[in-house]
Amino acid sequence: MADPTSATPTTTAAGPLSAYAMAVEQLQTAADRLGLNEGLRGILSQPKRELTVHFPVRMDTGDVQVFTGYRVQHNMARGPGKGGIRFHPDVNLDEVKALAMWMTWKCAVTGIPYGGAKGGVTCQPKSMSDAELERVTRRYATEISIIIGPDEDIPAPDVNTDGRVMAWIMDTLSMHSGFTMPGVVTGKPLSVGGTLGRSEATGRGVMIAVRETAKRTGLAMSGARVVVQGFGNVGYHAARLLTQQGCVVTAVSDSTSAVHAVSGLDPDALKEYKDATGSLSGYPGGEAISPDQILEMPCEVLVPAALEGQITAANANRIAAGIVAEGANGPTTPEADAILHDSGVVVVPDILANAGGVVVSYFEWVQDIQRYFWDLEEVNRKMEAIMVRSFEEIAKEADKARITMRDAAMSLAVSRVVTAISDRGMYP
Ligand code: NAD
Repeated sequence: MADPTSATPTTTAAGPLSAYAMAVEQLQTAADRLGLNEGLRGILSQPKRELTVHFPVRMDTGDVQVFTGYRVQHNMARGPGKGGIRFHPDVNLDEVKALAMWMTWKCAVTGIPYGGAKGGVTCQPKSMSDAELERVTRRYATEISIIIGPDEDIPAPDVNTDGRVMAWIMDTLSMHSGFTMPGVVTGKPLSVGGTLGRSEATGRGVMIAVRETAKRTGLAMSGARVVVQGFGNVGYHAARLLTQQGCVVTAVSDSTSAVHAVSGLDPDALKEYKDATGSLSGYPGGEAISPDQILEMPCEVLVPAALEGQITAANANRIAAGIVAEGANGPTTPEADAILHDSGVVVVPDILANAGGVVVSYFEWVQDIQRYFWDLEEVNRKMEAIMVRSFEEIAKEADKARITMRDAAMSLAVSRVVTAISDRGMYP
């Protein structure tokens, strides 16, 4: 579990653009391409459900603190809700709504049978004891239990949440029902119905996305320089697996520190150092740089794997990479997208690049329901097949329509959701 940080506000020449405004702008671009009518635009541009909860937790001092949390279900035409839970001081309803909408598109573009959802608690987990974190988690899980469940909406880890937090949620819901409900969350430890390969799945998907893009653009993986913003779950595994492919990770950052080495950094040694010290600061295997410099470091592949709104109109023309693989959700604003496109940078959109996590979460849910577990080779092989197929479908559409990979991915995703809405018809 990584340290909490402050999100950089997304700013454009026209002023600040919220995460949700960004998500809606991306939707409108796809809706224009697809010629969607006002009714469908109306359905898709708002979440189906938004639950806000305020709940008290007794802290270790004996004082009571009231927390605010959310669970948003954007669209469930294709199946139950699916999406992570974030614990971060900057969590707010606007951000959760954006993340829920992006989950709808991610599940649709990979063809997995879920709708999109997301949740979060506005909190500073770094300043909480383990006992406080557990009480916050269990009370939040109880508050949102009215809308989550194996057939309703299945949470998973996101920023500052991990297998331990998922196990507490699963246990809380199981205590309420009186029997063990493994399928209520994914990203659980193996001992309670987790799947092999889940913790590295998002990073593995990022690696596959980079590898496929490299094939498409003629970039040799061997020796390709990779820069990673955000050395948490996604960033670490992406760095590690890209190194195994022959890439050289030349710089990584977290919220407070960054490190650079022309000859390459060892992701495992970095992780060991960060786990021991809490930051990358002082890492002996490289030289310290400012985290603000990270996105502009010269490299072939840039992996933003921190928070949304990092690549903006203000810095996009200084991105030196040829490929941007979005490990994070929503790291690039629409204005920055246009600038990158004009400069010939290939952006592999979040709803494809970081989909490996939700694909393996889907496998975990399937295994939980069947009470029958797969070996790691099967998990990775099936995830790879979905990632490569999705990549090829998007690349083909992008080539055919001469549009960016984001526009192609969004068009495919939105059209699949629209088909499901139309096939179901309108109730009543
Ligand atoms: P995490 O909490 O494990 O790691 C986040 C990392 O980002 C931390 O190292 C933190 O220090 C760093 N960070 C935060 N702000 C930063 C900044 N401004 N500059 C540099 N570093 C910064 O979280 P995670 O699970 O790795 O998630 C990272 C991103 O990936 C999020 O956007 C999340 O929504 C997305 N994502 C995660 C998963 C998953 O399976 N965990 C799946 C899909 C997408």
